[in-house]
Amino acid sequence: MTDVIHLLPDHVANQIAAGEVVQRPASVIKELLENAIDAGGTNIKILVKEAGKTLIQVTDNGKGMSVTDARLCFERHATSKINSAEDLFSLKTKGFRGEALASIAAIAHVELKSRRQDDEVGTCIKIESSEVTSQEACVTPVGTTICVKNLFYNIPARRNFLKSDTVELRHVIDEFQRVALAHPAIQFSLFHNGSELFQLPEANYRQRIVNIFGGKTNEKLVPVEEDTAIVKIHGFVGKPEFAKKGRGEQFFFVNDRFIKSPYLNHAVTAAFEGLLKDKAYPSYFLFLDVDPKSIDINIHPTKTEIKFDDEHALYTILRSSIKHSLGQFNVAPVLDFDRDSSLDTPYDFSQKEITPPKVEVDPNFNPFKTERSGGGYTPNYRTEKSAGSWQSLYNGLRSEGTESFSTRTQVEFESDQVTGNLFGLKDEGEAGGTTFQLNKKYIVTTLKSGILVIDQQRAHTRILYEELLKNITVTSAVSQQLLFPLTIQFSTNEMELLKEIKDSLEQTGFIFSEVKKDGVEISGIPTLISESEVEILLEQLLLDLENEVPGAAFSQVDTLAKSLSRGMAVKSGTALNIAEQQNIVNSLFACKESSLSPFNKPVFITLTVDELDKKFM
Ligand code: ADP
Ligand code: MG
Repeated sequence: MTDVIHLLPDHVANQIAAGEVVQRPASVIKELLENAIDAGGTNIKILVKEAGKTLIQVTDNGKGMSVTDARLCFERHATSKINSAEDLFSLKTKGFRGEALASIAAIAHVELKSRRQDDEVGTCIKIESSEVTSQEACVTPVGTTICVKNLFYNIPARRNFLKSDTVELRHVIDEFQRVALAHPAIQFSLFHNGSELFQLPEANYRQRIVNIFGGKTNEKLVPVEEDTAIVKIHGFVGKPEFAKKGRGEQFFFVNDRFIKSPYLNHAVTAAFEGLLKDKAYPSYFLFLDVDPKSIDINIHPTKTEIKFDDEHALYTILRSSIKHSLGQFNVAPVLDFDRDSSLDTPYDFSQKEITPPKVEVDPNFNPFKTERSGGGYTPNYRTEKSAGSWQSLYNGLRSEGTESFSTRTQVEFESDQVTGNLFGLKDEGEAGGTTFQLNKKYIVTTLKSGILVIDQQRAHTRILYEELLKNITVTSAVSQQLLFPLTIQFSTNEMELLKEIKDSLEQTGFIFSEVKKDGVEISGIPTLISESEVEILLEQLLLDLENEVPGAAFSQVDTLAKSLSRGMAVKSGTALNIAEQQNIVNSLFACKESSLSPFNKPVFITLTVDELDKKFM
């Protein structure tokens, strides 16, 4: 028999990679702008024709490239920005994958002109389907111009998938605004079909916002400023009276990078609690600076998602600093009889050393019970939520004290107390006998021949993912009826998506009592989630579906199960008691695929006695 495996030719591999990086003209704009900024450009000009379908040209006055670099930059994984895996944890640049230019060159006609300060002449390179068609010396100003023509000319399916020019231009402008907002010191201009859309001079943050969104914005902005050990926050929130019906001007930047985070968005909304008229959305422009080591931006190729080490603390800090700003600027009502008691805590973040809020785990609290009551000790904040939910653990942001781990480990569970139907398994704690939690992140358990270290978040994601898939495709799940139906507003786009997946969502336990043009009314939700999380989960889900590369995911149902399981899973940083740990272990190994998370990341590692022996040699 002859061998059947062969390596894909470069241009094919590049085209496949391009599927992830380049979804539409706006993605090209984003990548080129990021490169221009990484190159130290202070004046960046963008020309676009037909919403970027026929031409995207970005010119910067940055440091330029040498002849060799100009040729190399189109190779996949060619980057000047990182050298080793460790560098990923201290990223100061926007790019790092070295994929963008290679991907773009695989699916468009690209022309690059570049010159460094000290070079007399520049380099001009033309490239098509990853093949260099010409390379010559040329006269060009210091800096780089990249011209991307006829996007997807060689992939008709992708080209046909593009929306109308109006829609694509909207995306282009969105990306442009995100980059321009984060870099007020850089001059930007954007032209479409010959007419000027934006001309942004060097400015400060407030002026930049006003230059983009118009003169009237100025009076609406309330500054937010906070400096703590884990995060520095600056920026603005819109005064509540100007809040909009649709989610429009909402921007988070982390280390100058635009990100989407339904979780942090929730923190902002929570700060506005009681100040907004019926379901209006506050605008915000918030810049968070955190230690690059404490985030992971490597989780999504388009890099708008980010993983924070300590989401809970960020949430709390963000919410209180916005509340504080709203109060200081006399925006909050002076007399408010049902005020949130957390407002009454003296505002002293700036003086105090910040410690991350701890999540208290009550030894008697049994999340695997189906009844709503959590047994003898039921703190107030938990009764608001369904006690049968895992997320009541990670929502416990307001818990005050912590119990040391050792006291918790002594708790023994009577098996008749545990109905254990969360994962449809009995909690007998058999798997490996003992478990303990390491760093609130890993569950460690013993095997006959070694030890097993399980990533709790990935494991739970896998468990929920399989459960959800089963519910959607085989048996429908049970719902918990809501006492008061929940109304959630969505934009027109979001509603279109939601309608497509409504049936599948109903299989997971959602009950939509009304579907309107601009929102839904929900009267029942899956038993595994609590009411307060519904909005975040759905928003995240719609975002995931929107960002989904056509054809890349297995199916919409798969994306749905992935997104929901990720949102619902117990997070790293959550303390788990013994019963919870063992339930995860047991349910994990009842899964069809226990070794990989739905996102193809390893769920556990084993360390055998043999391997240990070797280490002691
Ligand atoms: P990444 O940005 O992840 O490194 P890219 O494919 O976007 O990958 O770019 C590859 C390399 O090309 C960059 O690392 C940089 O060295 C160089 N480069 C790209 N654009 C520019 C530019 N506008 N000016 C100078 N160098 C650039
Ligand atoms: Mg780049």
